Amino acid sequence: MTHMHVAGSIHADATSPAPVWLTRPDDVNALTPKLWSSGVARDEDGVLSVAGMKVTELADQVGTPAYIMDERDFRQRARAWRDAFAGWTVYYAGKSFLCTTIARWIADEGLSLDVCSLGELTVALRAGVPPEQIGMHGNNKSEAELRLGLESGVGRIIVDSADEISRLERLCAELDTTAQVMIRVTTGVEAHTHEYIATAHEDQKFGFSITGGQALVALVRCFHSPRLNLLGIHSHIGSQIFDTNGFEVAARRTLKLVSQFKEATGVALAELDLGGGFGIAYTKEDDPASPQDLAAGLREIIAHELRGFGLESPAISIEPGRAIVGPAALALYRVGTVKVVEVGGGMSRRYVSVDGGMSDNIRPALYAAEYSAALASRASDAEPVVSRVVGLHCEGGDILVRDEFLPADVRAGDLLAVPASGAYSRSMASNYNHTPRPPVVSVKDGLITTLVRRETLDDLLALDAGVTD
Ligand SMILES: *Cc1c(COP(=O)(O)O)cnc(C)c1O
Repeated sequence: MTHMHVAGSIHADATSPAPVWLTRPDDVNALTPKLWSSGVARDEDGVLSVAGMKVTELADQVGTPAYIMDERDFRQRARAWRDAFAGWTVYYAGKSFLCTTIARWIADEGLSLDVCSLGELTVALRAGVPPEQIGMHGNNKSEAELRLGLESGVGRIIVDSADEISRLERLCAELDTTAQVMIRVTTGVEAHTHEYIATAHEDQKFGFSITGGQALVALVRCFHSPRLNLLGIHSHIGSQIFDTNGFEVAARRTLKLVSQFKEATGVALAELDLGGGFGIAYTKEDDPASPQDLAAGLREIIAHELRGFGLESPAISIEPGRAIVGPAALALYRVGTVKVVEVGGGMSRRYVSVDGGMSDNIRPALYAAEYSAALASRASDAEPVVSRVVGLHCEGGDILVRDEFLPADVRAGDLLAVPASGAYSRSMASNYNHTPRPPVVSVKDGLITTLVRRETLDDLLALDAGVTD
């Protein structure tokens, strides 16, 4: 979930409708560091570069649209989370973006890896990630998925339903093995970007309810099951979270459950997972906390709640995805058309169409996510003008960047870069309008490595059983 800005609130001086938070930049060529990976710079000739390679050259070599990953930045972020949370285990949430290279970087940097489908599990195993460092999520894991997890010996399966417990018991008996399980609980806390709701918000598909009592029942059932080794409890409260308030309430409710379980069984649970959802900056508005500050806050919350319940500390883990991969990549597009549209009230809006769109980044269309953009292939002396960056798809909602100041002279042929595009964009990409999905390449010391190649029309036609020539 993300915040939505109030439609129609505009600048008093504007000739284009724009949200009030979007302030006119003093220098439209300047880059706001928190939005970009650490290897991004605007070179003296005005061209953006990533880790020593100009985007103009990147576009020549790999084409557009393309997702450009800054390897050093990705690794630095992974390490920053690992180090800030030393003593806890950090699982990278693979659903944010996963391929074998990324899985190897994660393992190299000493992090563990969460997967939530048969496909993601297969990628992790093919990458050679040690199975004991893999956690399996999902509210409807298939039998094939559970079987592969059990046969390969994954470190933990986060169980989401009573059906899954039965399925696991049956598969474990068949394979003569034991499953390492955690119980996914819903704490009634739902975090949003700048707020969280700590009511009885449990009307969603994930996990077992604490307040409804199903969580304790599931814990006790797994505890008594000879085929299951109950590790502990898992709670994930949302995404794009900027502070620790939501975690405080969730930790209290979760540790209360740990203490109820102890009363019921005499046993203290060994593990607790607090989930992911740590926010990043998509626009200048967003102010995410550093991993260090979050770690300090979360450690204090946990210590306080443990004291309150008189519990020993379990082994704790977290699952950041977006916060590691999001800022590490930008999306590179080429402008195809620029159009100024009268929108009434003497105002107009400038539509800048690029060669990608909702097929490679569905987030703005799916939940009104905000992004930023910059002219990447040159600097400009032109006035900043509020613009809307849209894609090539046959949908009015095919918006990539709802509102951004871009130079007034942006024109066909220019390259645009959208920062903070590493998470939930390429990983959620579709082939809408038979659009081949863009590649993901990484850059390090001026060298390109392909992580995922560009899809081709032949790839798409290969699925079409009616093709005859
Ligand atoms: C999506 C998800 C995450 C990662 O969320 P981010 O916002 O990418 O940090 C972690 N854990 C679970 C269970 C999730 O569903």
